[in-house]
Amino acid sequence: MTSALRRVTASAPAKTNLLLHVGSPTPDGYHPLETLFVAVDLRETVTATLDPASAGAAVSVTVEPAPGSEYARMVEQGAARLTDIPLDGRNLAVRAALAVCDAMGVSPSGLELHIRKAVPVAGGMGGGSADAAAALVAVNELLAAHLGTAPLTPGELSRLGARLGADVPFMLLGGAALGRGTGTELEPVPTSAQLHLVFVPQDRGLSTPAVYRRWDAAYDLTAHGAPDPVPAQALAALDPANPEALATLVRNDLQPPAVDLLPALAGVLDHGVELGALTGWVSGSGPTVCFLARSADAAEQLVRAFSHEGRRALATAAPVPGARVDARG
Ligand code: ATP
Repeated sequence: MTSALRRVTASAPAKTNLLLHVGSPTPDGYHPLETLFVAVDLRETVTATLDPASAGAAVSVTVEPAPGSEYARMVEQGAARLTDIPLDGRNLAVRAALAVCDAMGVSPSGLELHIRKAVPVAGGMGGGSADAAAALVAVNELLAAHLGTAPLTPGELSRLGARLGADVPFMLLGGAALGRGTGTELEPVPTSAQLHLVFVPQDRGLSTPAVYRRWDAAYDLTAHGAPDPVPAQALAALDPANPEALATLVRNDLQPPAVDLLPALAGVLDHGVELGALTGWVSGSGPTVCFLARSADAAEQLVRAFSHEGRRALATAAPVPGARVDARG
């Protein structure tokens, strides 16, 4: 059975980690984490189109900067290069599409993916993972309609996502969540919070493995074992929202190694606080810096202050929903 559905567009959010506690690596080299994720209102969009008559690659992918996004401005001004995104089997959206085909028992044919990218690449905001999450959701719905079968369940998608990258299950879930293990064991955190964040992207990326290697070399000093748990106060500060309390609890163990690799980040962190942010931290493995503002107005003011100094900055809110279908055609 086939369906008239030819195209599904899904989106997924970027993330930051309000707390990211790192433990000593296990024998297989993975770092156990205790982290508090929040999904950020900066969304990647993936459109999956099915053209069974296509003679091209089984799964092809194209990428454009999301019109009007800060990432589009970065590309325009030469501060980011679209060519940093692989357009072959290494692209996380392609790998996600192939994973859905495999799980549904169909050989991929004529699947075209188009990514509209709003999240800076290699910035510690999980843009590639968001592409994977959006592709999982879009391709799942498209193929299920085409085959006339039940779509994969959210749990099945999450398991596929975990094999693609540690952040992918959270991008599917969204909101706020505790992450354990490599970050794939999730516990949703109920929250009525509306946090106002300002991201300051940098003109170069940082490689996540390089940041972990630096942490291993310089900060895992006494093999301290398991990561510290996320304190209950951090969860309490999300419901009801208490940004002042949250600001005192933010902690990212990957920040010191990220700053070692890119010392200019220290100045950015201090300067955001001088300009009025409650606190600032390196997002994930960096190098994007994230600031917490008191209110939406304070976030806009911070963006203006950074822009005035010729620095890019964008205000956004968190938490927001995870991956979802936005359009069908
Ligand atoms: P993480 O902390 O999960 O590594 P990040 O936000 O720092 O995330 P990403 O933007 O996800 O970094 O990209 C990391 C690398 O993944 C890129 O340098 C790129 O080579 C590769 N990559 C694979 N697929 C994608 C994709 N769809 N978009 C961006 N990068 C991708």
